[in-house]
Amino acid sequence: MSAKPRVALIAHDKKKVDMIMFVRENMEILSKCELYATHTTGSIIEDKVKLNINKMLSGPMGGDLQIGSLIASSQIDYVIFLRDPLTAQPHEPDVSALLRVCDVHNVPLATNLASADALIKEISLELES
Ligand code: PGA
Repeated sequence: MSAKPRVALIAHDKKKVDMIMFVRENMEILSKCELYATHTTGSIIEDKVKLNINKMLSGPMGGDLQIGSLIASSQIDYVIFLRDPLTAQPHEPDVSALLRVCDVHNVPLATNLASADALIKEISLELES
């Protein structure tokens, strides 16, 4: 594989701790990827885990849509979006749009830790190939 896998990381507020733990556990793989994130998620990862992230706007300010736009223009290969299904999100239409654009463009999307683990195995295989 020539180019780095491009991975978007997004976590709703109640899932941000899970995201940090996930990134820490998978640091070796994710450090070999080009990382994108919504602003708050990206800032916390940079602060706690010391990885460089291309940060978009915060989700409620349009960051989900910015990542959706990158997906639509084939600039993101994988999305890990730890969603909180139990809390209403003020920007739910944008969240739905992001999920939809992944389906439209057949971009792998993980929305919980179990599917994120599966996706990271795939990314690891891509890095080995
Ligand atoms: P945040 O956005 O990383 O800026 O909190 C994530 C979201 O709420 O979709």
